[in-house]
Amino acid sequence: MMNLIKQDLKIDESFYRVEEVRALTHETFSIKLPKARFAFKAGQHISLGIYGDYQSREYSIYSSINDDHLEVLAKEVEKGYFSPKLRRLQSGDLVEVHGPFGKFGMEPDDAETGKFVFIASGTGIAPFRSIVRTYPEIDYTLIHGVRHSNEAYDRHEYAGDRYILCSSRDAKGTYNGRLTGYLKDCTFAKETNFYLCGNSDMIFDALEILKVKGFERDQIHCEVYF
Ligand SMILES: Cc1cc2nc3c(=O)[nH]c(=O)nc-3n(C[C@H](O)[C@H](O)[C@H](O)COP(=O)(O)OP(=O)(O)OC[C@H]3O[C@@H](n4cnc5c(N)ncnc54)[C@H](O)[C@@H]3O)c2cc1C
Repeated sequence: MMNLIKQDLKIDESFYRVEEVRALTHETFSIKLPKARFAFKAGQHISLGIYGDYQSREYSIYSSINDDHLEVLAKEVEKGYFSPKLRRLQSGDLVEVHGPFGKFGMEPDDAETGKFVFIASGTGIAPFRSIVRTYPEIDYTLIHGVRHSNEAYDRHEYAGDRYILCSSRDAKGTYNGRLTGYLKDCTFAKETNFYLCGNSDMIFDALEILKVKGFERDQIHCEVYF
């Protein structure tokens, strides 16, 4: 009977059952799936589909390489095609996962020796949570740009002095204003490696600021979401 159902639904290794949809704000949530059936590098992303739907979207892996579940962080985009459907998923629903994909990520040797500044807008924090959970000893500062301070997703997981919240629409962040405003005022060690993730406007502005500060392009890694 089980085999028949499997055959009918064409369920294979790439299908996972949702374990939990965890609300983080009114619009943002995480989806927890069983442990990944593939090896990945912290920082990489997957392609996610919903069973029965013909479209898929990319999501950074939010969990660590060692976690016993695979997790992604997503924001429901108003009038978006996929993210509202993702948000309505419930425990037991089937999703299709392909990957891992992408060069954005952290090698163990680099994590042990390097000095890092992670720059994220909104859900662009996702790959950095994977990196920090995977390499708890890593030398990093995470600069997170959001509109409202309640978008500091899972903030308690980052050491207080390593997490800088830039909130542009309320005064409850570490910095009251846009992430790029904060960046302009910062001084970084010459050997810093920068990882940028999120929307393209933020990334292009941040690249320009880092260029003016004298950093080489090969010290800067980018993952553009939209
Ligand atoms: C490599 C990669 C990794 C990604 N990882 C994540 C992730 O970890 N978490 C995540 O939430 N999204 C991530 N995205 C974006 C994600 O793939 C979808 O684009 C997003 O969920 C919107 O899909 P949608 O079908 O609802 O919107 P669509 O119908 O495809 O698009 C509607 C509009 O929404 C805009 N848009 C896309 N994402 C956002 C956003 N976060 N906020 C505001 N506007 C947006 C698009 O530019 C477009 O104009 C990633 C994208 C890429 C390329």
